Amino acid sequence: MLLVGLGEEWIVTDAMIQEDLEKKNRDLYHLFQTARNVAAFQKLIPVFTAYYFENFIPEKLRRAYENMHEMLEGKNYFIVSLTVDSYLEKMGFEKERCVNPCGTYQKMQCYEGCHDGILSSEALMKEIETLLTKAEALEGDMAETENVLKQCVAVVDSYQCEHCGGKQSFNLLDANKYREEGYLERWQMYMKWLQGTLNRELCVIEAGVGVKHPSVIRWPFEKTVFYNQKAKMFRIHKMFYQVNEEIAERAFGCKCHSVELFSERNVEA
Ligand SMILES: [Zn+2]
Repeated sequence: MLLVGLGEEWIVTDAMIQEDLEKKNRDLYHLFQTARNVAAFQKLIPVFTAYYFENFIPEKLRRAYENMHEMLEGKNYFIVSLTVDSYLEKMGFEKERCVNPCGTYQKMQCYEGCHDGILSSEALMKEIETLLTKAEALEGDMAETENVLKQCVAVVDSYQCEHCGGKQSFNLLDANKYREEGYLERWQMYMKWLQGTLNRELCVIEAGVGVKHPSVIRWPFEKTVFYNQKAKMFRIHKMFYQVNEEIAERAFGCKCHSVELFSERNVEA
């Protein structure tokens, strides 16, 4: 059985999105930059981030996921990830074996969190996609760019909470009031899976998990390894690779960036 934790090193930052788009799609790059620079359009940044996650992935990360997928395929695994993109699903990992406790751009909630309903963001993203696909032939035309951005704002504004009439936001940990209902069902599946690892041989791979949300992966993984004498742990991180003394016999720290490691070689489980 393999328990995998993906941490901060796997999170695609804003800067990475900009760098990647500059290489891959200049039209979108300019459109996104304009949204960043004009106050009236800044509310589009989350929806553009979601659009990026639906359609692009940085190359190194893609290779890392591919190699990890190869390593886990056919095995009894579970992945807990701090990421909020849709890459695990897109790269072929089994939905029922992954949980993203920090939320996802694939789901929406009331911005004020007034009720526990979680919706899919698919309809919104389809509308945005239609507008942005047209925008790919703008060739830097400023008036047209603004026109497209205005239409995007209108689409975003048309999505309202059906209970309070306020705006909707993506179902993310950094939302105004995060509704955890979005991931709780999978979390229950994870807990059940984890119970099944008791007294069984377990390989724990903690990849790129820093100290930002230690109670989600880092501390519970240590606890799991401490209580299961048949567990082994590999902690891979550029800076926070150190392992506790209590589990030092069965835990190995690897000082390197986990995405670099997984992207460069086929890691044999
Ligand atoms: Zn509401």
